[in-house]
Amino acid sequence: MCVKNIYFLKLLVKLLDYSKYIQIKKIILACFLVIKKTRSNKIMSNCTSHTKGMDLDDVIRKVPNFPKPGILFYDVTSIFTNPQAFDYTINQMMEIYSKEQVDGVVAIESRGFLLAAPFALKKGVPLVLARKKGKLPGLTYQRSYDLEYGSATLEIHKADLPANKRYIIVDDLIATGGTLEAVAMMIKDAKAEVAGIFSIVGLPFLNYKNKIGSYNPKTLIDYHGE
Ligand code: AMP
Repeated sequence: MCVKNIYFLKLLVKLLDYSKYIQIKKIILACFLVIKKTRSNKIMSNCTSHTKGMDLDDVIRKVPNFPKPGILFYDVTSIFTNPQAFDYTINQMMEIYSKEQVDGVVAIESRGFLLAAPFALKKGVPLVLARKKGKLPGLTYQRSYDLEYGSATLEIHKADLPANKRYIIVDDLIATGGTLEAVAMMIKDAKAEVAGIFSIVGLPFLNYKNKIGSYNPKTLIDYHGE
């Protein structure tokens, strides 16, 4: 149950204590049930949370028509500005991969960096950066891919991806899966293995499993439409 709901329940108990008349108590209870139903309907229809502790839907900022008309942008920077939510997210990652034998974490620029860095540090494994084209000075693997909006190229230093190692790829959100697929391909180019894929948010209605389903993608919350 999220913190908001706990406050709401406390308020309800207080109101019930103060109301002397049975009729008033009944009205308060009825109001509570209507509000609760409306709220759970909203969650059921729009998103599915895969965690029990905190409702990340309350934390993730939604920006309509960004970066272009028709796109609903799920802005996870509102998790980074909320230490409780940030800590919760990293702990969830640790729990998901607690039994996974992992040799490194590959982070996708740029919000993926912020998730992957504390995770790799806690796991005690190397953090490898997948950067936008032209940023890395050494010899690189390169892959281009299509986005929900536009296209792009990512690069990884060849020296950072030794063969025969197992990597988890981390980004903030999976839309079509093209970005993560490009990084998975670079890991394969290096003759290494993809141990898993993690993102906070998934948009399964964009059918990302067609591209990256075989890499066991994990998300904390899925949205079912824009
Ligand atoms: P895709 O390659 O289609 O899975 O797109 C995923 C990448 O694009 C991630 O790095 C996201 O940060 C970004 N992205 C795509 N769609 C959205 C969206 N609706 N809200 C926020 N970020 C998005």
